[in-house]
Amino acid sequence: MPVNIEQYQTIQQKLLADHVQLIAVSKTKPIEDLQVLYDLGHRAFGENYVQELVDKETMMPKDIQWHFIGHLQSNKVKYIAPFVYMIHGVDSEKLLQEINKQGAKAGRVIDCLLQVHIATEETKFGFDGPALHELLSSNRIGQYTNVRIRGLMGMASFSEDQSLLSTEFTTLKLYFDKAKSAFPNGQFDTLSMGMSSDYALAIAKGSNMVRIGSLLFGARNYTK
Ligand SMILES: *Cc1c(COP(=O)(O)O)cnc(C)c1O
Repeated sequence: MPVNIEQYQTIQQKLLADHVQLIAVSKTKPIEDLQVLYDLGHRAFGENYVQELVDKETMMPKDIQWHFIGHLQSNKVKYIAPFVYMIHGVDSEKLLQEINKQGAKAGRVIDCLLQVHIATEETKFGFDGPALHELLSSNRIGQYTNVRIRGLMGMASFSEDQSLLSTEFTTLKLYFDKAKSAFPNGQFDTLSMGMSSDYALAIAKGSNMVRIGSLLFGARNYTK
């Protein structure tokens, strides 16, 4: 399926008006598809798999901002630390420590979002409210000088129940507003929530960064 350019332009126009950033989620898609959006001026792409991201990074233009949005294992941070633009799925302090360590090795300060568990499914990763609060109100955060915590990321339940999704997004926005006060310097400015099926609702509830894949690139095929 070809890249849906009209859809991209429609979504991008709407998001620009709302001051929401679009991350084009290109996991499993060939670089030809990414190149289509790149040629239209798009630079922010989201990937879920370390090896795939590393491969694409070597093949694509260097001014792309690569967002790692999947579940990241600590032992793989080193492969993406030299170039990744933002890591969305920071779901433990152990992972944060490793990103800090690899950031130092690469001579970089790496932008991160803390992932918060808002969905009803057990399988989704992330901090719960109390753990998030404990980390942010501790003095440990300041020691991680090679990471910059830019905000929060969350995934709503896999459900069509709009009131459930609405509650989950609202919860995440509340955590975001509360956590913001831990960063008086203004660095904490990003709330990444919303995907193809629920981005409009997420924006209505306060998202300023959405991660959209299948609406732009078509359904993913995991069988090949
Ligand atoms: C795959 C993925 C997306 C994009 O999903 P679509 O439904 O295709 O828009 C967004 N966020 C994360 C974390 C993902 O893994």
